[in-house]
Amino acid sequence: MPVTFENTLAFAQARDAADPLRAFRAEFLFPKHNGHDVLYFTGNSLGLQPRGAADALKQELDDWARFGVEGHFQAKHPWYSYHEEITPSLARLVGALPEEVVAMNQLTSNLHFLMVSFYRPDGKRRKILTETRPFPSDTYAFASQIAFHGGDPEADLVEVQPRAGEHTLRTEDIVAKINELGDALALVCFGGVNFYTGQAFDMAAITKAAHAVGAIAGFDLAHAAGNLHLKLHDWDVDFACWCSYKYLNSGPGSVAGAFVHQRHLGKQLPLFAGWWGHDKSERFKMERTFKPMPTAEAWQVSNAPVFSMAVHRVALELFDRAGIAQLRAKSEQLTAYLAFIIAEVEKATGTRLEVITPNDPAQRGCQLSILAHGHGKALFNRITERGVIADWREPNVIRVAPVPLYNSFEDVYRFGGILKDVLSNP
Ligand SMILES: *Cc1c(COP(=O)(O)O)cnc(C)c1O
Repeated sequence: MPVTFENTLAFAQARDAADPLRAFRAEFLFPKHNGHDVLYFTGNSLGLQPRGAADALKQELDDWARFGVEGHFQAKHPWYSYHEEITPSLARLVGALPEEVVAMNQLTSNLHFLMVSFYRPDGKRRKILTETRPFPSDTYAFASQIAFHGGDPEADLVEVQPRAGEHTLRTEDIVAKINELGDALALVCFGGVNFYTGQAFDMAAITKAAHAVGAIAGFDLAHAAGNLHLKLHDWDVDFACWCSYKYLNSGPGSVAGAFVHQRHLGKQLPLFAGWWGHDKSERFKMERTFKPMPTAEAWQVSNAPVFSMAVHRVALELFDRAGIAQLRAKSEQLTAYLAFIIAEVEKATGTRLEVITPNDPAQRGCQLSILAHGHGKALFNRITERGVIADWREPNVIRVAPVPLYNSFEDVYRFGGILKDVLSNP
């Protein structure tokens, strides 16, 4: 369906009126600027608070007050099995079987715990391949794991580089690099969506290429969970992890998630064990020998952080109600509209606003990264003063992420108006 966009308020409002997901906006609390909702485009950094979060937290505080330790079994949502309530929603969200996912820990911790099992350098096979400019925490995790195994991060951590003059990676170049490293490659670990460029990678193709040379394929889905329509099981991904405070709106530092493909379950892979990974039917026998759960729960080390899980549960209910396929359909339109609006502002002001995120909807999520030639930080500061919450990433990118759960076409239209105003009045 060819879409013609218009840079008018009436057009944006008509698109919002026709949006089947429009009611979800009212489920979120927006910060204010001069008494009005801000234009919030940083769901890629910290998602907004669901209105239901406070009640969900209150429930746990009340149950704690009322039951004390008995809350583990008597709370409305028993704490002992709290994470199990979240599993079905998480599985739907990332395209997994319920036994393949678990809500636990924090993102970088999960990356480490999963690498304990899935980065097993052996002989010549020691290298980790990742994308150019991964999120720094991932680089630290990769390098420290390599060093932990006695390797040399300078030699064994390899980034696929973009071609000269390009900002993003071509799948064919990623596959070529995997083939080139061949039997020296232990692990391919990419972001699902790169935090800086907003490029979404072809996870099925990367996984297939990794497996073809005998390597493991893992993904950090911090910028992909709740943003893309993921099919981790069908793509045959070995492992993945993600955080819940970005697109998943579960609050600062909230509990993260992990995926381990079914074919690795029940195989007694080496892992760092804790009591919450022990077979739950025998957990309280407190025996000396670790007997892992036959599910991704085997990787759990500690009991569930119930307060953050409470918010996570409420946030995931919203994803269940909206449906990730519907969210993604809206997201493609909303981001295409943002690209259109940015191009309109370029034309009207004669300013170069280079979007480095791929134009192909299959290669991006909702975020667009604008390289603001010569404007950069000053432009960012001025739109912030006008009530736009976007974000600035060194060295020179403004990231704008309209999310389909709570952003509207009108938000995008108004963003264009502010950008144009600021650029026209230097
Ligand atoms: C946000 C983000 C992180 C942050 O890690 P935490 O452990 O949650 O603090 C790590 N990696 C990537 C790719 C991210 O986008």
